[in-house]
Amino acid sequence: MVGVYAVDDAASVNAAVARARHTAEWWARGTFADRKHVLDQWKGVLTRRMAQLADVVHQETGKPHGDAQLEVGLAIEHLSWAAANAGKVLGRRRVSPGLLMANHAASVEYLPHGVIGVIGPWNYPVYTPMGSIAYALAAGNAVVFKPSELTPGVGAWLADSLTEVLPDQALLQTVVGFGETGEALCRSDIDKLAFTGSTATGKKVMATCAETLTPVLIEAGGKDALLVDEDADVEAAADAAAWGAFSNAGQTCLGVERVYVHEKVHDRFVEELTRRAREVHAGTDADAKFGPMTLPTQVDVVRRHVDDALSRGATAVVGGRDAVDDPFIQPTVLLDVPEDSTAITEETFGPTVTVNKVRDMDEAVRLANGTSYGLGSTVFSKSRGTELARRLRSGMTSVNSVISFAAIPSLPFGGVGDSGFGRIHGPDGLREFSYAKAVARQRMKPAVALTTFDRTPETDTLFATILTVLHGRATQLTKKPLDLDGR
Ligand code: NDP
Repeated sequence: MVGVYAVDDAASVNAAVARARHTAEWWARGTFADRKHVLDQWKGVLTRRMAQLADVVHQETGKPHGDAQLEVGLAIEHLSWAAANAGKVLGRRRVSPGLLMANHAASVEYLPHGVIGVIGPWNYPVYTPMGSIAYALAAGNAVVFKPSELTPGVGAWLADSLTEVLPDQALLQTVVGFGETGEALCRSDIDKLAFTGSTATGKKVMATCAETLTPVLIEAGGKDALLVDEDADVEAAADAAAWGAFSNAGQTCLGVERVYVHEKVHDRFVEELTRRAREVHAGTDADAKFGPMTLPTQVDVVRRHVDDALSRGATAVVGGRDAVDDPFIQPTVLLDVPEDSTAITEETFGPTVTVNKVRDMDEAVRLANGTSYGLGSTVFSKSRGTELARRLRSGMTSVNSVISFAAIPSLPFGGVGDSGFGRIHGPDGLREFSYAKAVARQRMKPAVALTTFDRTPETDTLFATILTVLHGRATQLTKKPLDLDGR
């Protein structure tokens, strides 16, 4: 047993949100520099105690200490970026009022919502929720965080460490419990809910939040593909596929679950991937590269997907049915997997990967885009990396490396389709936790007064003339119709 925590019921969640409301009003009065001052101190605490936090992650999830430290380190990077850039991204700036409204000064700024509810998963219990928490705090909100029932200790640790920096305020509180506690948070008096977890739970969260018209950010599951072009560095692609598929026992929203390889390099890629997959194993020994399946029920999902693929003609060149055990699943590489098999269409969330041969990269793009998910993706290509990346229907793509976008704080993070909507990280992540506030200030009386009952027919004529001068020419039908078919 790792720890014992009392479950927070609805009353306790509501009390936490009420405390957060009080703090949010105080925090919103501060400047971006004030907030950076506090968040930088918190960053210092997290950095100095990185090993301690990584240990809590290790104990609750079973992942190797080094992997836990990696996710803590990346979370610190994001906290640092959010604190340093919030003022620049969200602060008040003047915008052009346009010719028609030239007598006005116009400005826009992004103000905090107030209290943000954050619901997180267990697979990256620091990095993932911190993508919301750090950006929400930097934008001027208070946060109430509901971690997964499997990782309450990590949540408590994070809240305690910020309380050390700011003892008298409830800037970050953790409420612990099961789905009901998360549901209570959705129904509480929060101003926005940031959810990270499965697509199925995301739908429930959205339905509950709809009762009070509470806006939601949904970071859900994925079925990420890795594409290998004929001119790719095959060894690097195989290395990336192995790490992307097997690290953290495949329990990664951005894990590589499918690979599409150009026929010209297919056999060489399979050979390289096979060699790497045989070199790593799951376990608790010092040589183990990844740990157990954290969620016991996930073992059955992986077994079902492997069975489905094999019974429909796929081949396991590494692992297979016997590799799937509780709690350790050994690396499994499946070749020639039918595209309608669940190993291709559903999130597996285990250390397995499918590898299918393609005639060309058009086919690779079509197949990669063939699932309902659209979280991340990877392309290995020397000459066409960016072009192929832009054709993939996913929120993020790494070219010639894997999952690298997740470590770049200035890049937005989020998906499309069943992978959710909204963005954490980067400027978009800061704006996600604020609302745009527009102010138009009249500097002098207008030459043509439009918003008055004193408006005359002469004013209407003048207005029509100005509009025609400003915009009429561009709308004359002189150009050829747009021809996009050949592009
Ligand atoms: P779940 O969807 O099972 O749970 C996520 C969170 O929601 C947990 O805290 C859970 O609590 C809570 N919850 C459960 N039911 C409800 C409810 N009715 N109302 C409100 N909250 C509820 O996901 P997992 O924890 O199993 O995480 C794995 C999933 O997360 C995978 O699909 C993975 O792809 C996805 N993920 C997505 C990421 C992204 O950035 N897009 C990043 C990381 C993971 P409890 O644990 O107590 O059930």
